[in-house]
This record gives sequence, C-alpha cells and structure tokens, in this order.
Amino acid sequence: MKTIIKLFILVSVLAGIYSCSKEEKLNVKIENYDTFVPGAIDKWISTNLTDPYNIEVVYRYQRSMHDINKNIAPADEAKVIPQMDVVIKGFLDVYKKIGGVPFIKTYTPKQFALFGSGDYDVDGSVKGGTADGGRRITLYGINNFSAENANSVLGNLQVIHHEFTHILNQNRFIPGEYGTVSVGDYYSNWTAQENTTALARSLGFITPYARKSIGEDFAEVLSHLIVAGQLYYDDFAYDSGKDAYPKFKRKESIVRDYMMQNFSIDVTQLQIEFQRIMSETYNSTRYSAATALNSNYLGSLDWDIRSTWGLENAISNKQRDLFMNILDGLEGYRTKTMVFQFVSEKKATLNIGYGDDNSTYNAAYDFDIVKNDDNTFKISKSAVQGTGTIYNNGNRSLILQDVQPLIDYLGSTSFSAEWKSVDLTVNPTDYLQYFVLKNTEDPSVTFMGKVNLRKY
Ligand SMILES: [Zn+2]
Repeated sequence: MKTIIKLFILVSVLAGIYSCSKEEKLNVKIENYDTFVPGAIDKWISTNLTDPYNIEVVYRYQRSMHDINKNIAPADEAKVIPQMDVVIKGFLDVYKKIGGVPFIKTYTPKQFALFGSGDYDVDGSVKGGTADGGRRITLYGINNFSAENANSVLGNLQVIHHEFTHILNQNRFIPGEYGTVSVGDYYSNWTAQENTTALARSLGFITPYARKSIGEDFAEVLSHLIVAGQLYYDDFAYDSGKDAYPKFKRKESIVRDYMMQNFSIDVTQLQIEFQRIMSETYNSTRYSAATALNSNYLGSLDWDIRSTWGLENAISNKQRDLFMNILDGLEGYRTKTMVFQFVSEKKATLNIGYGDDNSTYNAAYDFDIVKNDDNTFKISKSAVQGTGTIYNNGNRSLILQDVQPLIDYLGSTSFSAEWKSVDLTVNPTDYLQYFVLKNTEDPSVTFMGKVNLRKY
C-alpha cells in the first residue's frame, strides 16, 4: 500500500521528468532573426539573468532549437518570468550560496530555451528537458507550470537539477567507479514494459529512467538527493530491499565525493539550502516533520535522553520527568535503551531494553498513530498489543508502573510534529536529525528524539 501511494506521489511531484537527452556539442547556430522590440520580459531577463550571469533566455519560438520532426508548442509568454524566477530561486541562488559566485558563473548554463509543451517520443515517453554541449538547458512543457503550486515547482526544479548535473558531467567526467555499481543492469530500452519501477528499484535505480545509462543514473541520483531529499532517498533505498540498498548508498557516496572533489560542494549543504527555499518561498510541506511521519520516513527515535545528544539539547521538564521515570531503572535493573520504533505511519512500538551486566531484556508497547485533520497526531496505546516475551515483560507490574505515566500522557492530548529548530550557520549537521512532538495544548511540553533512519 505504502509503495503504491508513494509512487503516486512521486509521479505527481516529478511529472515531466521522464527522460532527457544530451548532446556532446552544439551544432546549431543560435541566432534570433526576429526583429522584435525588447519588452518587459526581455528587460527582466537582462536585469536578472543576462547582466549577473551572462545567461540568455530563448522563449520566442525557434523551430531549429528542438527536434525538427516534432510538433512542440511555443512557450506562453506569461509563463516566462515565473519560470525563470524559479530557476533563479531554486537553482542559481542555491548553487551560488553553496558553490560560490565563481562556481555558478563558470558552470551555469549560458542559455535556457523554453517550450510550451512536452517533447513526446513515439514510445510514449516525454522529455522534460535536455542539456546540450555543457551550456544550454532546454525546458519543455512550461505552459503547464505553476509557480503557485509547490509540487509543480518541485517537479520543474527536478528537471533543472537533473539537467544541470549533465552540464557538470560534461565539464568533469563521472568517475569510472560509478558505472561498476550497477554494471550489466543498464538498459537503453528503458521505456520497455519489462522495465517496471519495481524491477528498476530492485536493481538499485532511483527511477526506471535511471537505467537508461550511467549519465542518466548519476543525474537522477543527484537531483533526487537535492529535490526529493535525503529522507525520501534513504527510505526509497531501504524499501528497495537489502540487495539494492547498498547500491543506492554507494551511488550516493560517489555522487557526494564527485561534488566535493571537483567543485568543493557539500551535497548536504545543497539539500539544506534547497529545502529551506522550497519551504520558505514556496510553502512546500515536503520536508516537514509531519510529512516525514506521514510518509513513514522515520525509522526510529532514540528516546534515551541520557545520551550525548540529550545532554546537548534542551529537554522539556515534562519529558525529563516522564522519561527518567523509565530510564532510572526498571524492576531493579538498569535501563539500557529506550527507542520509539515506527512500524508504519500508523503504528509504532516503544521498546525499552533493561538488564544487568550479563543479560538484557526488552519490554514493548504498541501505539496507534492517528493523524488529525489539522496534521497533528494522536498517539495512544493500541487496544490490541503484540504477543510474546517482550510484551509480557511490558505488563509486569513493576515495569508498567514506571511506563504508565508516559503512556497516559501520550494518550491525553495531540501533538504537532516538528524538527528541532536548527541554526544552520552554527549546527548544520543537526538538520533533520531531531524529531520533536509538541503538545498542542501546552507548547512548553516537547518530546525530542534523535532520528535513526532504517538501514540494512
Ligand atoms: Zn538526463
């Protein structure tokens, strides 16, 4: 069920990124033979793109700039500024801030060409964009683009970040090692029926299209890391199975090293900055803590506030009281671990490890997570609990008496889901690391936990 929903979400968010092509060099002479008088759009382009970045935007229809055998609609002029404004905010500004001004001035595509409709191929696939000769990005389908719709913006930027990866690769080659991760599994006939999403992901590909070639795979990985985000990427990798998971993580690692070694760019910083812009400028909820919970991205929360992270962060008095009740020992034993493990977006298990130097026991409690209409959550002990020793231990009276106050408190109210607020200039590595449940009736009560993503 989860996979189906996520595929649906993915398709709707990333609509348009079905394929792209690249050419090694430009062989078309680019000239505009129109005798137009520059208007407001042209002035905006000069001020915002040509003057600062030496970027030209071709939006008046030029048949020579797309496949001559295709019928492709011209760009609606009303879409040009909104589209290029998104290019500035969601692409140029992000790379400028993280990569620096010299980087973006050197590597930015010198030309954007805009077309209104998609570039459909006979096999039914549609190009969202192309990157040519290390200098031009062509965007198709911009007449369907809406800067008011965060998902439309994200889908659009997915294409742009994918194509820009090709531009980078045209300047600095993909390391040979990358092709060894999925050697033998690339499939140029990627639109063939047998290349299902399930098959592609079981082989370690983030999309069916990534199977087309090493270059497309590389561009899909980097663009997904930036636009879909790390939690999505890790969750997708985990759900793809234990054979595929290490391939996803190996590819990620090579992509990260490539960006660092060639361009001194930390991909985590790109992710943080991109997601900040999407959330603040486009009101995207894609990277929110509630979305992470609803999407079952969170593996588990370390609730042992005695850990280093618990000492370094502000823990509410209520959390300290309720949690230390459990952490200061159970049934005469030492409490060793306390983990809130998400089973799905609707189920979680509180798992407490306790014992002495020789033995460790576990006590477990199942919880239902119900999302309220306002995107807050009810977390209450499930009417039907699991069976077996760990649940029996949870019912032992000396243990239950220490855990019951937490169970009661959790069930007594609703919680909003938030990320710990992080000053990214001071603690960037804290980003998306700490998940906080905040009592909707008393915001002074927060329960913080450290996120541990699922892995093999
Ligand atoms: Zn591509």
